Amino acid sequence: MKNQNHFLTFLFLVLIPVLVSGQQENQNPFFEEWDTPFGSPPFDIIHEDHYLPAYQEGVRQHMDEINAIANNPEPPTFENTIVAFDQAGALLRRISPVFSGLSSAETNPVLQSIARETTPMLTAHYNAIRLNEELFGRIRTVYDNRENLDLDREQMVLLEKTYQDFERGGAALPEDKREEFKKLSERMSMVSLQLSENLLAENNAFALIIEDETDLAGLPANVVETGVQEARRRGMEGKWVFTTAFPSRVPFLQFAENRELRRQMYFGYVNRGDNDDENDNKELFIELMMLRQQLSEMLGYNNYAEYFTAIQMAENPQNVYDFLYRVWEPALARAQMERAEMQAIIDREGGDFKLEAWDWWYYAEKLRKEKYELDDDEVKPYFTIDNVRQGSFTLANKLWGLTFEPRPEVPVYHEEVEVYEVFDYDGSHLAVLFIDPHPRPGKRSGAWCGTYRSGGYENGEWVSPIVTMVMNFTRPSGDKPAMLSWDETSTYFHEFGHAVHNFFAKGQFRRTSRSVPRDFVELPSQVLENWAGEPGLLETYAIHYQTGEIIPGELVERLEKSEHFNQGFVQTEYLAAAILDMDWHTSDISEDTDVNAFERASMERIGLIDEIVPRYRTTNFGHIFGGGYAAGYYVYRWAEVLDADAFQAFKDSGDLFNRELARDFRKYILANNALYEGMDAYVRFRGQEPDIDAFLRRAGLK
Ligand SMILES: [Zn+2]
Repeated sequence: MKNQNHFLTFLFLVLIPVLVSGQQENQNPFFEEWDTPFGSPPFDIIHEDHYLPAYQEGVRQHMDEINAIANNPEPPTFENTIVAFDQAGALLRRISPVFSGLSSAETNPVLQSIARETTPMLTAHYNAIRLNEELFGRIRTVYDNRENLDLDREQMVLLEKTYQDFERGGAALPEDKREEFKKLSERMSMVSLQLSENLLAENNAFALIIEDETDLAGLPANVVETGVQEARRRGMEGKWVFTTAFPSRVPFLQFAENRELRRQMYFGYVNRGDNDDENDNKELFIELMMLRQQLSEMLGYNNYAEYFTAIQMAENPQNVYDFLYRVWEPALARAQMERAEMQAIIDREGGDFKLEAWDWWYYAEKLRKEKYELDDDEVKPYFTIDNVRQGSFTLANKLWGLTFEPRPEVPVYHEEVEVYEVFDYDGSHLAVLFIDPHPRPGKRSGAWCGTYRSGGYENGEWVSPIVTMVMNFTRPSGDKPAMLSWDETSTYFHEFGHAVHNFFAKGQFRRTSRSVPRDFVELPSQVLENWAGEPGLLETYAIHYQTGEIIPGELVERLEKSEHFNQGFVQTEYLAAAILDMDWHTSDISEDTDVNAFERASMERIGLIDEIVPRYRTTNFGHIFGGGYAAGYYVYRWAEVLDADAFQAFKDSGDLFNRELARDFRKYILANNALYEGMDAYVRFRGQEPDIDAFLRRAGLK
C-alpha cells in the first residue's frame, strides 16, 4: 500500500511539467471543430495534455450556462429552464466520452493521473449544480405548473425526470434538512469506501500456502503453474500459493483432491470481511444500513429498497420479492437434484462422507465431465472472430435491415480497432461502430459497450451516435485466425445488443434518450445472445475456417446442453444473495443487529441448503455496499427473464427473424425509451407481461 502511494506521488510530479510545457490552448482539438469523417474524435491529434485544460474549460462553460439559467430575469419556462438545462454542457459532452472511453480501453499512468485530478473536480461540479437553489427553484416552478404547459409526452417525461433527479438528490428538502442530507450522503460514501477497501484488503489477506507437493494432487499443470507464479511473486520459491482471486480459487476448488485444503480455500473466500480483525466489515455494514434507512426516510420512503425500486421497472420491493421467489423454488429443487447426483459420485467412489459446501466445485467438475463435456477446441474453429462479427451483422440485417461498411479512414486510438459505418434499412446513415477486440496492457478486463458520442440533438440538429464495443478476446497467432470460445461468442452478441440499443435510441432530449431503468438495460443485450446459438443463424456464420463446413447439429446440441450444467447451483447462490440484499434493505436495522444472525435467519426463511452459501455473504457483498447495486442485485436475473420471454415471441411466431416483431422491438424497447418505459414498453412489444417459463426452460430448471 505504501509503495503504491509513492508511485502516485511520483506520477503526479512528472505530469505537471508535461501540462505546463506542452500546452497551447488554441491547438487543443477539444476547442475546435472536428472535420474528421462523421465528426468522430480526432484520436490521431488528441494528446494527453489536452484533457485537463479541456475539462477545466468545459466545467467553466457549463457553470456559466447553469448560472445563466438560474439567474435568468425572465420567469421560468419549460424552454428557458428545462430544455436549457438539458442542452447545457456541450463541451463536457465532447470530452468525457473520449476520456473515459480511453481510460478503459487504452489507459496509461498519465491518463490515470489525470482521472485522479478530474474526478473530484467533476464531483464537486455536479454537486454544486444539484444544490444550486435558484436553479432548483426554477425547475420546481415549472414542474408545479406542469399541467398547464400543454407539453407533449416526451416533454413531460423530460420535466418529470429532471425534477426527480434533483428531488432524489435531496434538493427539495427544507434548508436545515438539506444540510443533514448532505452530511448523511458524505458519511455514506466514506463508509461505503471503507467497506470496499476492507474487502480489497481481505481479498489479499488470505493465501493458501502449499509446501508438500503431494497436496497438489489433481491440479492440472496450468493450475499448478499459477501457484508457482504466485509463490514467486511473494518471494516464496519452492512453494505453491493459491489466493481467493477467481482464476486461482475456482480451479483449485474444482481439481484439488485434498479435501481439507479445499475446505480452507472455501472458508478463506466466504469469510472475507467476517474475521473479527482490522478489516472486519460487520459494524460498518450496519452503519451503512442505518444511514441508508435515514436517507430514504428523509425522502419519504419507508426503506432503501422502496427508494431504489421506485424508479425501476419492478416499481416496488414486493414485486422484486414475488419475482425472486418464483425462480427460487425451481432453482432450489434443481440444486437438490445436483446435490444428489454428486453424492452418488462420492458413494460410487467409496467416499464415506456427506457432500459439503467446499466439495461442490470438485464434484460438479466430475459431473460436468460425465454429462456435459464440451471441448472448447472442438467448437472454436467454427467461431473465428470474423465469423462472429459477420454473424452479428447478419442478425441485425435479418431483423432490422441494417448494413455495415468498413470505414478505415476514420481515425482510431489503436491500430487494432476496426470501424464500420452502420446504415439503416432505407440506406440512410445510422451510426458509426468501433470494434476493439483484443487485450492490451492498457485495457481493463471484461467486455463492454460504450459511446464516443451518444446520439442526440445539438442546436436542433440530429447528431448520430459513435458506438464502441471493447472485448478481450485472444488475438490471432501464426496462420491461425482469432477464434472465440462459445462463451466469448455469446459475449460478442451481448455487447452487440448494447450497440444496437445505442444505434436506435432516438430522443428529443439528452435526458430522455436511451435512459432506461437499471433492471431494463440488459434486455437489449441479453436478448441477442439467444440468436447466437440458433441453427437458423448458425448456418450463416458458424463455418469451420479450414474445412468450410457448417457447424454440425450434434455439436450444437451439446452446446445447448452444456448451458444447463450446474444451473441449480448457479441460480440458487445468485438468488440467495439477491434475497439477502432485499432483506437488508427492507428491514429495520439498529446498532444491535447481528450481521451473521440476520444473514442466517434470512437464509433459513427461504430454506437454503447447507451445501450452498449466497454468492456473496453480507461482509463481502461489494455490489451492495460499494457497487451501486444496493436493493438492486436482482436486476441481472430480472433482465434474463425478460430476454428469454422476448425471444420466445420470435420462436412462437414461427419465424426467428420476424420483421414485424423486430420492428416493434425496435420501436418500444430500443428507440423510444422516453415514450414507453419499463413494463409499459415491454407489454406494448409483447402484448402481455413476461412469463417466467421461457427462462426456466432455457436454464434447464423446467
Ligand atoms: Zn451488458
